[in-house]
Amino acid sequence: MSVDLETDVVVVGGGACGLMAATMTAAFGEDINVMLLEKSSRLGCNAEIASGTLIAAGTRFQKAAGIDDSPEIMAADIVRKARGKSDVPLTLALCQKSAEMVHWFADELGVPIELGTEMKRVGHTRMRMHAHPTRSGAPIVQALRDRVKALSNVVYADNTPGCGLITDRAGGVIGALAGQGDRVERIGCRRVVLATGGFGANREMLERFISGARDSLHIGVESNTGDGIRWGVEVGAAIEHMGGYQGHGYVVPGYGTRLNPGVIYAGGIVVNRLAERFEREDQGYSEWAGVVLRQPGGVGIAVWDERIQRLYAHAHTMVDSMKAGAIVRAERLNELAQHCGLDMSKLTATVEDYNRGVLRKRDPLGRELLDQPLVPPFYAALITGAVAHTLGGLKIDVHGRVLQPDGRPIPNLYAGGGTAVGLSGDTPDGYLSGSGLLTAYGLGMIIGRHVARSLRGG
Ligand SMILES: Cc1cc2nc3c(=O)[nH]c(=O)nc-3n(C[C@H](O)[C@H](O)[C@H](O)COP(=O)(O)OP(=O)(O)OC[C@H]3O[C@@H](n4cnc5c(N)ncnc54)[C@H](O)[C@@H]3O)c2cc1C
Repeated sequence: MSVDLETDVVVVGGGACGLMAATMTAAFGEDINVMLLEKSSRLGCNAEIASGTLIAAGTRFQKAAGIDDSPEIMAADIVRKARGKSDVPLTLALCQKSAEMVHWFADELGVPIELGTEMKRVGHTRMRMHAHPTRSGAPIVQALRDRVKALSNVVYADNTPGCGLITDRAGGVIGALAGQGDRVERIGCRRVVLATGGFGANREMLERFISGARDSLHIGVESNTGDGIRWGVEVGAAIEHMGGYQGHGYVVPGYGTRLNPGVIYAGGIVVNRLAERFEREDQGYSEWAGVVLRQPGGVGIAVWDERIQRLYAHAHTMVDSMKAGAIVRAERLNELAQHCGLDMSKLTATVEDYNRGVLRKRDPLGRELLDQPLVPPFYAALITGAVAHTLGGLKIDVHGRVLQPDGRPIPNLYAGGGTAVGLSGDTPDGYLSGSGLLTAYGLGMIIGRHVARSLRGG
């Protein structure tokens, strides 16, 4: 085979999974050469615009807070939310890796990580959301990029999209294509890691696999066009749960920002244009996207108060929304109603009704996450639903090796993050908050080490 370049490992995609896989492989030994291809210019992978919530069980942060958790309990939560559709061995392998992953970010990468004690999320039976103090994914991505840049055995190529795989006659992967137009280079290598994210920015694939999503608002990055999934299929990989995606039901339309869903779980409510609550709000924010889209105009109005605002004001999504002018503050409910174009007496009645339910611990809509009654001053923002990232992809084993429909691995090919099938099944309500980055960073860690060991014959 004639090639333009040769290396040991090509990692395609420089987001969460690709950065982690490249780091782990290269750190194994200086004699292993890695080439990391990134389609964009190191700006904007989903991991960067994410809220950076890392779920992990058995961390020292949890122990310090007296929380008793284990990989088995966390795996059970993930599988329960996905109604049994998760790949159980893979889920467990990732949960077993989760504490090491969080400790590695804190100790090896030097990212300040803390347990987000305010970060209530539906479906987690333990407090296990870990995050940067700003509740943003960007600091971790930036620290990983700096680490990759410092590794002498990694070539980190920006603005260099991967554009396909090279196989031998037996179907094994022996290289990758990179570049675009008439400037495509053939890179020969011993292993390829596909980490190109999902297909949220590919309208054709959305239409094909997720009914009704083609025209939905997509808040993920535009570079995730399903490339790795398509190449995997071309070389014989199996795909699974292609209808799965993480929705986001707290996107602020017109501002390019979103609310931290914790605002609602800590006691905020959502009303529609008629100033009425319509469904219990303590549902996952992924399935909430569909709920709010079914309301008049496809929107809702989130209402919360000063106590809740104080809890979440530091989160980057709230900072961005506040700066953008997407959040309204009012001393009284009638003022808030006026700002939001709602019927004043109706909104007052709705909030009073909700408050009575909180005091009685019995919500008229059956909501169980009840904290304190809402009291002035109040805050509000218009919200809608969107597709955040897709969760169907290439079938893999517990090492991240890409599998054929008969269960055999395709030689030398790995996939993780949004390119591989997620843990959430094939509907948006199967997504448990934090499992996106778990499958990206966690699999990046697993894959990077497996690739390196396999090159050493181990
Ligand atoms: C708004 C939002 C908030 C989120 N919040 C959270 C959260 O708090 N916690 C959580 O667990 N998950 C969260 N997620 C999900 C999480 O961001 C993803 O699960 C994770 O980023 C997936 O990692 P990845 O490496 O597969 O994709 P990404 O991080 O998106 O990286 C993929 C990279 O591949 C590059 N690429 C694509 N095609 C090519 C190609 N042909 N050649 C070269 N490069 C290519 C892209 O440019 C990109 O840099 C959120 C997602 C969104 C959209």
